[in-house]
Amino acid sequence: MLCYKTHFFNINKSFGLFNQLSNLFQPNYNVLTININIILILNISLIVIYTYKIVHLHKQFFFRKMYRSHNCGELRLADVNKEITLAGWVQKSRDKGFMIWVDLRDRYGITQLIFDESRTEAAVMQLAKSLGREFVIQVKGTVIERESKNSNIPTGEIEVLVKELTVLNQSQLPPFTIEDETDGGEDIRMKYRYLDIRRNPVKNSLLFRHKVTQEVRNYLSNLDFCEVETPYLIKSTPEGARDFVVPSRMNPGQFYALPQSPQTFKQLLMVGGMDKYFQIVKCFRDEDLRADRQPEFTQIDCEMSFIEQEDILNVFEGLTRHLLKKIHNIEIEKFPRMTFDEAMKTYGNDKPDIRFGMKFGELNAVAQHKEFPVFNSAELVVGIAVPGAASYTRKEIDALIDWVKRPQVGASGMVYVKCEANNQYKSSVDKFYDQEDLAKWAAATEAKEGDLILVLSGPANKTRAQLSALRMELGNRMGLRKPNEFAPLWVVDFPLLEWDEDSERFHAMHHPFTSPKPEDMHLLDTDPGKVRANAYDLVLNGNEIGGGSIRIHDKDMQALMFKHLGFTTEQAQEQFGFLMNAFQFGAPPHGGLAFGLDRLTAILGGQETIRDFIAFPKNNSGRDVMIDAPATIDNAQLDELSIMLNVKA
Ligand code: ASP
Repeated sequence: MLCYKTHFFNINKSFGLFNQLSNLFQPNYNVLTININIILILNISLIVIYTYKIVHLHKQFFFRKMYRSHNCGELRLADVNKEITLAGWVQKSRDKGFMIWVDLRDRYGITQLIFDESRTEAAVMQLAKSLGREFVIQVKGTVIERESKNSNIPTGEIEVLVKELTVLNQSQLPPFTIEDETDGGEDIRMKYRYLDIRRNPVKNSLLFRHKVTQEVRNYLSNLDFCEVETPYLIKSTPEGARDFVVPSRMNPGQFYALPQSPQTFKQLLMVGGMDKYFQIVKCFRDEDLRADRQPEFTQIDCEMSFIEQEDILNVFEGLTRHLLKKIHNIEIEKFPRMTFDEAMKTYGNDKPDIRFGMKFGELNAVAQHKEFPVFNSAELVVGIAVPGAASYTRKEIDALIDWVKRPQVGASGMVYVKCEANNQYKSSVDKFYDQEDLAKWAAATEAKEGDLILVLSGPANKTRAQLSALRMELGNRMGLRKPNEFAPLWVVDFPLLEWDEDSERFHAMHHPFTSPKPEDMHLLDTDPGKVRANAYDLVLNGNEIGGGSIRIHDKDMQALMFKHLGFTTEQAQEQFGFLMNAFQFGAPPHGGLAFGLDRLTAILGGQETIRDFIAFPKNNSGRDVMIDAPATIDNAQLDELSIMLNVKA
């Protein structure tokens, strides 16, 4: 009895609820109560065991009955002698006549199969000889220990001695080798993307993307964000790009636009009282494509009510920190913040890569009013100090000068100063500047002994952009942009409006729903370019990964903004009447942000290009070469849509 009692109370130490129950029984402790307690414990144990089984073994219940008992990545030495069934693709086979080895691949890994004349039936042996690359097969056999082990793969200590072989499907010879290092070029891999996806680098990128989206969903859902889907067939949303349009058969001559983002809908959800919204959503922008742009891309789109800018920065800094922790086990304390003006002055760029220095030093004060006419007439003279580059040869420096003179960069020339030992300076403008002058340049650009100062001059914005391009190029060449280092920062206080040379008017820098800073409102009429917005970007490693703003939630204010953007009252009403009408029904103060999921995933995955993280991406001309889209449609379809083509050759 005593023994039961001791045992019972020991167990209960770890179950608070039972402690209370047992206290109830304690005064009249006897055989009956002990029996009741034991039954109770047994029942609870059974529930715990079953719950464990349901949670941990459900995959087995659901997935492992049909074609396979295990996947190709999980068998180990501990499984030796087990009778198993595997299914997958033939990665490659080696036929030594009396023995055939086949690497069997699925999403989870590779397992070596062995067909051995002395242990495998002749018919199976015969069939094994006919297996080609990428055949889909099922095998039954016994797990055995390998004689020569392969430490490069997790299953490398075992192989499967095959007893039964079924060819589930044959395959043509694939157009490129399905290996990590493939012989297939980009075009052929895109045409056969489903084969490319069988390769580890692409497959792992898709799995990585899945992990990122799962973490995003977890994080936001835990903060009460609700995922709401918004429509794809809508009216144009002005995010600054061209719309993709879809003709409406039922409304001849009318078109839907595919959303450039769910911007107006998420704001309407706030009017609808949803409070915290997010959506992992496709957006469509008909822009000229750069290497890392896609006509359809995915955003993590969010909006919140009754918040201020600081709340949004906190939530999304938290999300980024959560992702860095979960994915790379990296902890970053507070993200630095920089105003737009500061970013432009210090890095010539509103999305600076702060993993490395080479900050801009403005040299107007120390380089102008001397004899050098090029600098004297320039709006801005600005330089960077390239660490350790004083040793560059004349040829290397000339190559850099040619690089900045390329039409893509557009500089007209570049001045250099070598910072040599004992505070000696050698420059391409020695004729105009003495050692004392150049020492001032070195101070302004924070150049040290051994550095090379590179200086550009010209109109301020253009020159900043050129020097920024050079800084990034040098960062790449010198290996300073390390993919496994993460340097996030917020850029805040963006201008509300930007001047567009082509249309000769102001455009919204973010979008027309962004609210101006109240303290700058008085400048709206007199100096609109100076008005700052409650707008912010999150920058990671030199890429804008997210951006958003506090919105205008007042109808009159929104109407005023449209007026400043050059809309007549009628145009504003026609395009955005639905939003301004909604604002008449109690719109809460709100704001939000959207992260570009493709780019965020690529950067977290240590890559620059987003294509590998998209299952079926488009090429640089916006084509899907696998399904061959876009394509013409037949006349009957055009007729039905009331469309006549006028294609110019
Ligand atoms: N809709 C904006 C964009 O796609 C983001 C935002 O303001 O929330 O850039």
